[in-house]
Order: sequence, then structure tokens, then C-alpha cells
Amino acid sequence: MARKDFICGNWKMNATHLEAIQMVQKLSYRLDLADYDRVEVVVAPPFTALRSVQTVIEADHLPIGLAAQDTHWLDEGAFTGEVSPVMLAKLSVGHVIVGHSERREHFGEDDATINRKLKAVMAAEMTPILCLGETLEEREAEQMESKVGGQLAAGLNGLSPDEAVGVIVAYEPIWAIGTGHTATPDQAGDACEFLRNSFGDAFGGSMSEHVRIIYGGSVNPGNIAALMAKKHIDGALVGGVSLDPDQFASTIRYWV
Ligand code: PEP
Repeated sequence: MARKDFICGNWKMNATHLEAIQMVQKLSYRLDLADYDRVEVVVAPPFTALRSVQTVIEADHLPIGLAAQDTHWLDEGAFTGEVSPVMLAKLSVGHVIVGHSERREHFGEDDATINRKLKAVMAAEMTPILCLGETLEEREAEQMESKVGGQLAAGLNGLSPDEAVGVIVAYEPIWAIGTGHTATPDQAGDACEFLRNSFGDAFGGSMSEHVRIIYGGSVNPGNIAALMAKKHIDGALVGGVSLDPDQFASTIRYWV
């Protein structure tokens, strides 16, 4: 089974539901997505826009998937302000980002919490996008491998090989997120290769050939081709650029 490339626009805490409707419509006008059978295109609006974006996707039969940016790990309960995986699945959400560095940093999410969320996403029959990455200090201290290797092992803890292969792993060096400092293709490719080998050590070499590993960190129309040319990079998680439908469409056009 060949790995199909994957690109997800993470809109973060941007766009009202009305703006989000316009963004997904503009994206679809700029792309003839029927031509994009080499890549799976997904957008991750804020919770308040999921329902509206889902309605547009369904009404216009757009080949665009819907992702959530986070979830709680339980189905329901007294957790004011939280949203459950079951609620997301009912909205036709297909993917959920877990462990984004902004959640780790600003909301204190640790590996155990992220592992709980990841398993809950899978239990609700959605695909987790597990984010991991090192800080600049860690990279300079040559600790990239120990950091992301540890995050990978903890994030996938308790999964069988069949389950683990369904996770999308997103290598996102923290120093490259929202900074304009993209990792070089070699840096990104080497890290993704390291993650694939680590995945193979844990779940078997044949499984590692199938798991999708994507890169995130200041991806744009100018650097997508060089990043995607790397054998072990299977797509991208795109923040800032995905807020501009023109720029996001130009990035996705790499796959035509
Ligand atoms: C992200 O937040 O996942 C991300 C990759 O952001 P940006 O593309 O803006 O660096």
C-alpha cells in the first residue's frame, strides 16, 4: 500500500464561522480538487466553525477533509469548556490534531495526556495527527532524536502495530513554527527518517513503510517542492499560510 501524501491547514484560533465558510469556498474555487488524487487535503478550523465548514463541504461535495485542532479524551462529563471525540465524529470530523506544541507549551499538555487523547480519537474512528518536535536549544544540544523519539514512543504507547500505522505523525520543530525559519529539506528529511526508523523499531519494519510522516513549520508555496522531494516526508501541516486561500492553494498545487 503506497503512502498517499497528506496536507492539513491548521487555522488555529483564527476565523469566525462566517470567515471560515469563505475560506473553504475560496480554497475550492482556486483548486480543481478532482485533479488532486495524489494528496489528501484537510482543513482544521476552530471548533466554532466546524459545523459550518462541514456543511459547505457536504453541500458542494468538496474533496476536502475536516480536522479538529484538539479534543478531550472522554466521551462526555463535567469538563466545562471541553469538546469530546464523539461530538467531533458526529460532525464528520475525520482527523484530530493532538499534541500540537502550542497545546504542550500554553496548556501544559504532557505526553500521557496526549496519549489518552490519541487513543480516544482512534476509539471514535477518527485519525490522530500526532505532533512532535524539539526546541532550538534541544536541536543545538543535539537532542533532537532523544526528544522526538521520546514523544513518539509516549504518544503511541499501548497501541498495536495495526493501530499505530493509522496515526499520522507530524514532525514540527518548534523553532520553525510560525517563525518563517523553515527547517532545511535535509533537516526535515533526516528527522522524518529517524521517526520512521523509530516507528519500525517499535512496530515492525513493514509497518514503518506504511505510516505517514509529515512536516510542519513555515511551509509555503516556495519551499513545498524541496521538502516533499525528501523520501520520508509524506505531506505537510501548514499554519500561517493556510489562512490565505491563495497561498494555501499555491502550496497544494505542488501535487498537480
Ligand atoms: C503549525 O502550527 O502547525 C505550523 C506548522 O505553523 P506555521 O506553518 O505557521 O509554521
